[in-house]
Amino acid sequence: MKIHEYQGKEILKKFGVTTPRGIPCFSVDEAVKAAETLGAQLATKVWVVKAQIHAGGRGKGGGVKVAKNPDEVRNYANAILGMQLKTHQTGPEGQKVRRLLIEEGADIKKEYYVAALTDRATQKVAMMASSEGGMDIEEVAHKTPEKIIKVFVDPAAGLTDAQANELATGIGVPAGSLAQAVDTLKKLYTCYMETDASLAEINPLILEGNGNIKALDAKFNFDANALYRHPEIVAYRDLDEEDADEVEASKFDLAYISLDGNIGCLVNGAGLAMATMDTIKLFGAEPANFLDVGGGATTEKVTEAFKIMLKNPKVKGILVNIFGGIMKCDTIAEGVVAAAKETHLSVPLVVRMKGTNEDLGKQILKDSGLPIISADTMADAASKIVAAVK
Ligand code: GDP
Ligand code: MN
Repeated sequence: MKIHEYQGKEILKKFGVTTPRGIPCFSVDEAVKAAETLGAQLATKVWVVKAQIHAGGRGKGGGVKVAKNPDEVRNYANAILGMQLKTHQTGPEGQKVRRLLIEEGADIKKEYYVAALTDRATQKVAMMASSEGGMDIEEVAHKTPEKIIKVFVDPAAGLTDAQANELATGIGVPAGSLAQAVDTLKKLYTCYMETDASLAEINPLILEGNGNIKALDAKFNFDANALYRHPEIVAYRDLDEEDADEVEASKFDLAYISLDGNIGCLVNGAGLAMATMDTIKLFGAEPANFLDVGGGATTEKVTEAFKIMLKNPKVKGILVNIFGGIMKCDTIAEGVVAAAKETHLSVPLVVRMKGTNEDLGKQILKDSGLPIISADTMADAASKIVAAVK
C-alpha cells in the first residue's frame, strides 16, 4: 500500500526524522491560509507548493513549485490543484491532483538519496544511499551504479553505527553533519521495521546551508499482509489514487489486477492464477487480468468477479480454472452459471474444474443450457479459449 508524501513525513517525524514544517491542503484558499500560517515563522521567506499523488517525478512534471509570497502560492495552487500531473510513474494519462502540501522552503546545499528496502536476493533489509539525490534513482543505478552504496542489515543487530557511518561518509556528508546523518539513517531503519514497510525512501535528504540534515521528500510502500496490525497506516489509504476496478474487487475480497490482454481469468489460488496466465501466454494469447477468488468463493463473489472482468472492454473471452479443494466444484459451477446469466455473458467461456465434486459441477454447467465450453487439462482449457477469441 502506498501513501502520500505528507503522510510519509508525518510518520518520519514520529520516528524523530527532521522534516520541513508543512500543511496538507485540499483547496486553493486552504493553501493560501497554510502559507500565511507557516509564513509568520518562515526563516527562508520561501514556500513550496507540492502536488500530492502516489507517484514520483512530480518535480520534473511541474508538480513542485517554489513561491516567494502568498500570492504566488495562490497562483501555483490554482495551477496544480486539479491538473492531470504526468510523470514517468503515472502512465501517459497522468494522475489528477486532489491534494497539496504547502511547506516552508529549504535552503538546499546538497541533495542525497537514502532508502530502506527489502532485498530479495540476500533476503535482508538493505539500506541504500547515494550522493546523487533529488533525481530518479533508477537513472543513477543505470548510468553511474558506483554512486549507489548498499549495506545489508543483520536483523538481530539492526543497522549498526559502523554501517550508518559507512553510508553517510560514502555519500560525502561533511564531518560537521555526519552525526545527524547517521542518526537519521538509524531512525529511517527503525521506522521501516516498525511500520512493516517494504520501502521507505527519502529523496532528497538534504544538507541545509546551516549544516542540518532534513527529509525533503518521503515515499513509503507497506506490506499489505501486515496492514492488519497498523490501523493508523490503513487510515492513510487514498482510494482516489488506486485503480477503481481493483478497489471494487478488494471490497469483495477478490485479488484483481488488470493487465493488457484480452482473456479474462477467474482462478482460485494465486499460484494457479499465475500458472493459468503462463499457459495462456504459451498458447499465444495474453491475459486481461489476474484474478484470485480465494478459498471461500460464493455465488455472489463469482458474480462480482465476472462483472469486474467484463467492465474491461478488451475482454474477448473468459477462462475459469478452478481447483476444488475446500472449495467445491459444484459451488463454483452454480456461481459461474448465475454470473453468466446475470451479466448476460456474450463472450466465449471456457471452464476447467478439477477436484471435489467435479462431476457434479460439470453436470450443473451442462444442464444450464449455456454455451459453456468444458475443458479437462490446463493446456486443453488454454488452447480452447485462445481458439475461441481468435
Ligand atoms: P518528486 O519529484 O516527486 O520526487 O518530488 P520532490 O519532493 O523530491 O521534489 C523535487 C525537487 O524539488 C527536489 O529534488 C528539490 O530539488 C526541489 N524542492 C523540493 N522542496 C524544495 C524546497 O523547499 N526548496 C527548494 N529550493 N527546492 C525544493
Ligand atoms: Mn523525490
